[in-house]
Amino acid sequence: MLTHVPKTVCIHCGVDLETVKSNKDHVPSRSLLSGSPPPDLPVIRICEACNSSFSSDEPYLVSFLGLIAEGSARVNKKAWGHASKVLDSDFRLQDDLDARLSVVNQRDGGQRVAVEPDAGIINRVIEKNARGHIAIEAGLTARSDPKISFASLQSLPPAGRELFHKGPSWRVVEPDLYRYVVITEPILIVRAVIWEFLATEAMWPA
Ligand SMILES: [Zn+2]
Repeated sequence: MLTHVPKTVCIHCGVDLETVKSNKDHVPSRSLLSGSPPPDLPVIRICEACNSSFSSDEPYLVSFLGLIAEGSARVNKKAWGHASKVLDSDFRLQDDLDARLSVVNQRDGGQRVAVEPDAGIINRVIEKNARGHIAIEAGLTARSDPKISFASLQSLPPAGRELFHKGPSWRVVEPDLYRYVVITEPILIVRAVIWEFLATEAMWPA
C-alpha cells in the first residue's frame, strides 16, 4: 500500500520525527558517490535509530564494489579510492569479505576470483535508497516490504538489460557512479545502477 508521506515521518520506520532525534540523510547515500558529489544532492530527514542502523551497511556495499573494481576493468575507478579507504580502516569488514572470496575454475582452464556478498546487507542499502527516491520524487512511502534483486549489469542478457532500462528516463546523479529511475505505474519500481556495475531493483507488488 502506498501512502503520501508527511515530512515529519521517518520514511523507513514511520516514527514521528518530532518525537525522536533525527538526522539528515543524502539520497542516494554519499558513500556511493565521489568525494565531490553534486551540490544539489537531495537530503531527507530520517530518525537517528534508522540512520545508525544503516551505518555499517553502506561501507559493506562500497567495499564489495571496491573488491570488484580492483579485479575488474568494468567498474569505474573513480570510486575505488574511497572504497579502498573504507576497507583499509575496517579489519572486520576485510575479514568478512575475505571469507566470501572464492577461486572459480573457468572452462578455458583459467581461474577467476569471485565474491559472494551478504545479500541481506546489500538489499538493505538498495531499499534505503529506493525509499529515499520515492519519497523525494513522488512524495510516497510504501508500508510493505519491497521485493529486492540485484545482479551485475553485465550478467543480464541483452533482452533483460533492455527491459531493465525501459520506462521513464533515468536520472544521472553522478556519471558512471549512480543513476536511477522511479516507475510508479502500474506498480512502484525503483531501479538503479551503481558504479555502472550493480543493477538493482526494488519493487512493491500491487
Ligand atoms: Zn526510522
